[in-house]
Amino acid sequence: MKSRISPNGVHLFDRHSGLNILLDELCPEEAVWSMSPRQVSIALTNVCDLHCAYCYAPKHKASLHTDQVLGWLKELDAEGCLGIGFGGGEPTLHPDFVDICKRAAGETQLAVTFTTHGHRLTPRLVERLKGSIHFTRISVDGLGRTYEEQRGKQFASLLRGIESIATLSPFGINVVVNKRTVSELDAISELAQKVGASELLLLPQQATTTVASMDGVVGRALQDWVSSYRGKVRLAVSEVGASGLPTCDPLPDERGLQSYAHIDASGVLRESSFSPDGAKIGDVGVLWALKQLRNTV
Ligand code: SF4
Repeated sequence: MKSRISPNGVHLFDRHSGLNILLDELCPEEAVWSMSPRQVSIALTNVCDLHCAYCYAPKHKASLHTDQVLGWLKELDAEGCLGIGFGGGEPTLHPDFVDICKRAAGETQLAVTFTTHGHRLTPRLVERLKGSIHFTRISVDGLGRTYEEQRGKQFASLLRGIESIATLSPFGINVVVNKRTVSELDAISELAQKVGASELLLLPQQATTTVASMDGVVGRALQDWVSSYRGKVRLAVSEVGASGLPTCDPLPDERGLQSYAHIDASGVLRESSFSPDGAKIGDVGVLWALKQLRNTV
């Protein structure tokens, strides 16, 4: 098991089972707290073959280099990071995606996860990734026609992607919550249970240049749905959209950059993918950029 020293105690984590144990009888001094965020998401590339209106990924072409990413992962791993999540854009479009995942799993103790739209998960790709991925997230923004109108891809193709993911690793379903998808949450949670997903991650829609944030009416419908939810699949919600929803945080003293950071496809470290502030990582390393960012936010 990997250990992390935090303001809440000593945190043990097994990337294979997903088991977390918090020894909260221990109160480590600040001087020994792990310096890395607990989780880091990394946009390997901005490139994507879909054009979702609510996509917040930057649209300029940028991708990270494999050796650069591995160097950052080793730094984060040594300083108590528990897991990384590759995203984008569509991370499977990065030319070295398989190699990066294999090396991340083989050369670090990090849990390796990625988020995908699911339409490129051929049996060959899944076979090459096996053994290197600890958790996968697939985006399911509505069912049938709703999905096809939101994502511009066939729902049948998504279902094939979900079938492939189920053979790769434990997985969760992500749903952007907006006025189209909120009324389909029951059906999406039923699908999640049927296909064996272990988590349903709610992502209340955030404003982009083409769409507005989830409005109050949808927000109240989401709150009502969460309050009456009796499904078996665990619910989670993005921090940026959690306001008004009942959440539980087992690590309440790990705040901001102690708990999470994002690296974009241009190699800039940010508090989140929505945050305007950032620190360029460059050759000096991710921990140096982290210090810089802590001084500015
Ligand atoms: S699939 Fe994801 S990265 Fe691609 S356009 Fe849609 S939201 Fe953006």
